[in-house]
Amino acid sequence: MSQVVDLYSEPHVPLIAIVGRPNVGKSALFNRLTRTRAALVEDLPGTTRDRNYGELDWNGRRLRAVDTGGLLGEEPEEIGLLVQDAVKRAIEEADILLFVVDGVDGPTEPDYEIAAMLRRIAQPLIVVANKGDVKQASERLDEFYALGFGTARFVSAIHGNGVADLLDEICEVVAETPIEERKEERKINIAIVGRPNVGKSSLVNAILGEQRTIVSSIPGTTRDAIDTYFVFEGHEMVLVDTAGIRRRGRVERGVERHSVQRADRAIERADVVFLLIDQGELLTAQDTHIAGYVQKNARGLILVVNKWDLAEERSERHNVVRQVDHRYRFVPWAPVMLTSTVTSEGVRDLLELAVHVAAVREHRIPTAELNRVIRKAVTSHSPPTMRHKRLKVLYATQAEVAPPTFVLFVNDTSLVHFSYRRYLENQLREAFELDGTGIRMIFRNRSEDRVEVSV
Ligand code: GDP
Repeated sequence: MSQVVDLYSEPHVPLIAIVGRPNVGKSALFNRLTRTRAALVEDLPGTTRDRNYGELDWNGRRLRAVDTGGLLGEEPEEIGLLVQDAVKRAIEEADILLFVVDGVDGPTEPDYEIAAMLRRIAQPLIVVANKGDVKQASERLDEFYALGFGTARFVSAIHGNGVADLLDEICEVVAETPIEERKEERKINIAIVGRPNVGKSSLVNAILGEQRTIVSSIPGTTRDAIDTYFVFEGHEMVLVDTAGIRRRGRVERGVERHSVQRADRAIERADVVFLLIDQGELLTAQDTHIAGYVQKNARGLILVVNKWDLAEERSERHNVVRQVDHRYRFVPWAPVMLTSTVTSEGVRDLLELAVHVAAVREHRIPTAELNRVIRKAVTSHSPPTMRHKRLKVLYATQAEVAPPTFVLFVNDTSLVHFSYRRYLENQLREAFELDGTGIRMIFRNRSEDRVEVSV
């Protein structure tokens, strides 16, 4: 007979991940923290003797710790492997990170490299300056501020100084952080699309040229798609199907069609789409198919006017933005950016905007607020009657994020006129600042669904 184990009935024991470059004293700190319990764990038959994980008690509070150094080995060249699977998993699982540095050495280049990688981690982090018992250490504490995680705390892993205070602080932090906030941030998928020669592959290069952190190629979902992964200001990003962008050459019959399909696939996988438009072809080229497809799939969209360095009237920014806005007026929520991949003008801003749009897509609106806005919208502009019947919006709820998806329960979906739908959409966008992304609005008959609503 099989036994059903309910993993979720176990109380959550917060996990402390100890990270840092080799030889700063990670395992000494790990041993110090877990000292009381390590022997006990070893003695129990059947317990996994994973020496990198340990348990501890602090004033009756159960905690776990993991020494990521033990997962890696302590070879200096392995610092770059901090992102290795085992370490990555340990960090993802952790509720709090201790970033251990050497209090005597002060911050070193490898510490800065690790700091850059840790910046994308959502969990709370404490910089722990070890070897605090050594006299010279006391003069360096302020220098660790430069790592970007606030003031460091001194400890001596060997002698135990400062460890009690550190544990107090850890307990305070893990007690305060709600579970939702600990979730790892999602990667932001970006599709770069547009007509041949607008500068798509140049933009890929300009973006990657800006980055000093990890860049790697990962296989995409389709067989020959290659995605490129990078970190921008602490945000993990993926350029979707960079192989499709880089594929150059003459456009032959059938190829154009193929590349359109390819762009569609990329859009479907994207959180944010960069639709590139050549500043010299503003009035001639039509990319409305692409923008329409983005809209249909409720993805984020940024209209990127590229080759801005070649513009004759660079002072005419407003004019250009207005023209683009007009051409793409069916996606009025899509912002316009001006870029040059040659001078890099606007490239950083574009990525920052993408981060913003991705965050908008993750936004969760409390049901009560949502209904307040819908009610107000309906009151100030009531739906027109159709066939002597009037649409009634009974109740709304946000069913999903990314894309933001709203379900509106109504008396009769056949009474939802296109223009009234657009009106409600605009009201939602305005009230909740839903800019830069397509949203979904699904209308349902309340009686059909037999929902019982309690507000
Ligand atoms: P793709 O077909 O969309 O990938 O376009 P490419 O990136 O290959 O660029 C097409 C041509 O435009 C190349 O000769 C680029 O050097 C040039 N180009 C791309 N971006 C810019 C830009 O911002 N300014 C200027 N002046 N030229 C650009």
